[in-house]
Amino acid sequence: MSRFLSKNLASLTPYTPGEQPQDKQYIKLNTNESPFPPSATAQAAAAEAAQSLQLYPDPTCRQLRERLGAVHGLSAEETIVTNGSDEVLSFAFMAFCDHGAAFPDITYGFYKVFAQLYNVPYVEIPLQEDFTIRLSDYRALGKAIFIANPNAPTGIPLTVSQIEDIVATNPDTVVVVDEAYVDFGGVSCAPLVRKYDNLLVTGTFSKSRSMAGARLGFGFGCPALIQDLETLRYSTNPYNINRMTMAAGLGQLADEDETVRNCRAVMDNRDYTTQKLTEMGFAVLPSAANFVFATHPAIRGKDLYLKLKDRGILVRHFDTVRLREYNRITIGSREQMEALLTAIREILEETV
Ligand code: PMP
Repeated sequence: MSRFLSKNLASLTPYTPGEQPQDKQYIKLNTNESPFPPSATAQAAAAEAAQSLQLYPDPTCRQLRERLGAVHGLSAEETIVTNGSDEVLSFAFMAFCDHGAAFPDITYGFYKVFAQLYNVPYVEIPLQEDFTIRLSDYRALGKAIFIANPNAPTGIPLTVSQIEDIVATNPDTVVVVDEAYVDFGGVSCAPLVRKYDNLLVTGTFSKSRSMAGARLGFGFGCPALIQDLETLRYSTNPYNINRMTMAAGLGQLADEDETVRNCRAVMDNRDYTTQKLTEMGFAVLPSAANFVFATHPAIRGKDLYLKLKDRGILVRHFDTVRLREYNRITIGSREQMEALLTAIREILEETV
């Protein structure tokens, strides 16, 4: 730390992204990326946009907002696009947390970092023993609420009516529903933004749309809520979506049926992997996301993580009291999952 750092920031603990090692080729099952490349249309559009990189991109992102909104039955005025969904979440913490924030104690780690960064007082509401949310904990909280649906790293979803219960019982604070993983079997709450002016639904192209490297996220809300977020976007980085990403996003949206097929393949691989892990003695939480959260009684979570890493397979291990016997395993291609299952079989044979 230099002697110049603002006192407000001295105690900030930054978010720790999953490992992105450059030393060798791993089978990467640690950051919930897609095993599939972006669509051919998206790739060609990005390449073409590269020829105009001397020019700034369109700061209004009008075309992309229109198309993305339309896919969800919403208008451009109800849609914002951001540099990954991390950016729209960051804006939401900046904009809507005068009365503090609340989120589950086990959820996406960035919520806590944003709260600290923007000096937002926050409460972490414990998940129940089975890692589910107790709905009554979230009624009439009087704080902005952040819910990942499905949750991470558990993969457990809430239903739309459960989310609606939270939104309806907190009419005077914003409820942010982070749908980063919704396309893998969850149901989106996006249509509810027409009914509730306190609902912000966020999403990303990083998972189901195979564009983690392009950094494209979005938010849906009533026009006034989106306008507030736009004020922050124009006050921080009006060119937050670069030309190649904007073009690739539009290209990817032109191939929605490919996205649906890819999600279906991931869900099939998730069911297959869950079944095989269960047969090997793992307890696997019921996931509606592109990852599973699993624990085995005969091997410590960290040991399994390290032994898989030795074999060139990366999964995500969280070293906290309630999570340390688990690993979060991204669902990749069938070949990647077969390689994982073979490695786990060998490790268990050595261990047990
Ligand atoms: N929300 C959740 C629950 C996530 O797991 C992630 C991915 N790390 C994000 C949001 C942010 O993803 P991105 O910024 O790539 O859109």
